[in-house]
Amino acid sequence: MTKLLQKAGIFILIAISAICFSSCKTGFMADNNLLPCVNNMRQIETAKRTIAMAHSIDNGELLSREQIKELAMYMTGGRWSAHQCASGGNYIVGRIGQTPECSIHGKLEDIRTYLK
Ligand SMILES: [Zn+2]
Repeated sequence: MTKLLQKAGIFILIAISAICFSSCKTGFMADNNLLPCVNNMRQIETAKRTIAMAHSIDNGELLSREQIKELAMYMTGGRWSAHQCASGGNYIVGRIGQTPECSIHGKLEDIRTYLK
């Protein structure tokens, strides 16, 4: 019985380590708010592409404060307050050509890789 408990304990320890390793490696956190957050970041990503085309902004460039405010016009609801991370994360818009990032859930590109 004791050996069985030891084996179960070791298995749980390995499972926890694997979870920690995978989330540390990718730098994102999975919870019930992940998918709505991913949807917000997708909208930000699409809005970034639209604004980059509208203002002829090249890949690798940063948006100005005004352009970041303007992004909301290209998202559903037309305002940033409609696109808050339910876990309280802040969005990092990032450079043109890069995916947005949530301070809690991580980078959109890492989440996509994980979900594949
Ligand atoms: Zn988030």
